[in-house]
Amino acid sequence: MLPIAALTPAELTAELELEAPWRGKQIFQWLHRSVFDFAEMTDLPQSLRHELAGKALPLSSGVDKVLKDPDGTVKYRIKLLDGLFIESVLLSDRHGRKTACLSTQVGCAMGCRFCSTGRMGLIRNLSDYEIIEQFFLLRKYFSNIDTIVFMGMGEPLCNLVNLSKAVEILNQPLGVNFSLRRLTLSTCGLVKGLRNLVEKGPFIRLAFSLITADPHKRVELMPVSRENSLREIKKELIKYQNITGKRITLEVVLIAGITDRREDLKSLLDFIPPLKVLVNLIPWNPVAELPYEEPSKGKVQWFERQLVDHGIPAAVRFKRGRGVAGACGQLAVL
Ligand code: SAH
Ligand code: SF4
Repeated sequence: MLPIAALTPAELTAELELEAPWRGKQIFQWLHRSVFDFAEMTDLPQSLRHELAGKALPLSSGVDKVLKDPDGTVKYRIKLLDGLFIESVLLSDRHGRKTACLSTQVGCAMGCRFCSTGRMGLIRNLSDYEIIEQFFLLRKYFSNIDTIVFMGMGEPLCNLVNLSKAVEILNQPLGVNFSLRRLTLSTCGLVKGLRNLVEKGPFIRLAFSLITADPHKRVELMPVSRENSLREIKKELIKYQNITGKRITLEVVLIAGITDRREDLKSLLDFIPPLKVLVNLIPWNPVAELPYEEPSKGKVQWFERQLVDHGIPAAVRFKRGRGVAGACGQLAVL
């Protein structure tokens, strides 16, 4: 059975050996209107619907478990065709706007010390259709989605080809027509991956998990920064910003006594220029067996105020989803 969620109308026509291009368009439009059963695709001839049901797979994955946090965050455990699981999260803000936080890999190879996904190691990349299916599943069963962030399990720049294809599908005018402005990729900072992004796009919004601008501390917390220096990363961020003209988000995870001190603020302020950024402060979310502590509320507020006083836009990211281990860095399926 051929998974078809990541095929363009022209690819559907070719791969499914359809009689004419409009047939591919029809199927594409059904999928993007949340119809995944060929029997319900009423503008296709009965015989074709029957034939397609035997050879094409509109959804290869399915929601296996739904966990709702009282704060409105919903975490979905999704079962893939090969029996592996991933997690996707739907967040609502106080205005009711919905953000889907999607995964790009099963696990992650980067091994950041403070992150639950990092403890799993990498099991495999998600295919393009598995990335787009997360969106289809969350949307079909549960909600309208305003923005998408690729900040779930995995390092998106390690799976850029499949992610690009998923973005291309989301961006198709015939389909959901998601604008690139409403998509964000979050990376731990891989120089090679950033270079690829600068060369080929997709030019969606970019968030960089800086965590700390102190290079020694960064190496301790993020083994990946041994081969990816902040200097090299910054060069690529500047190029990306010159291309897109958009602010880059810096994600700073505040860990008590480790990344929330006065020195950390200073190194952050030194790191920023000439970038135009928005600093997202993320109080560390507890992960069982990790030796870190959450910062005090006062410390978080102090950090935010200091940044704002220095003219840097900053926001504290809500601690949403903690009740279901669905907050940043808490996603893991073993
Ligand atoms: N691999 C990508 C995207 C997934 S991680 C990246 O690292 O950017 C998404 C965000 O969660 C990152 O900014 C990461 O630093 C943050 N994060 C990881 N573990 C966390 C934790 N325990 N508490 C708070 N944020 C965490
Ligand atoms: Fe991977 Fe991101 Fe977690 Fe680091 S923070 S281990 S890059 S998912």
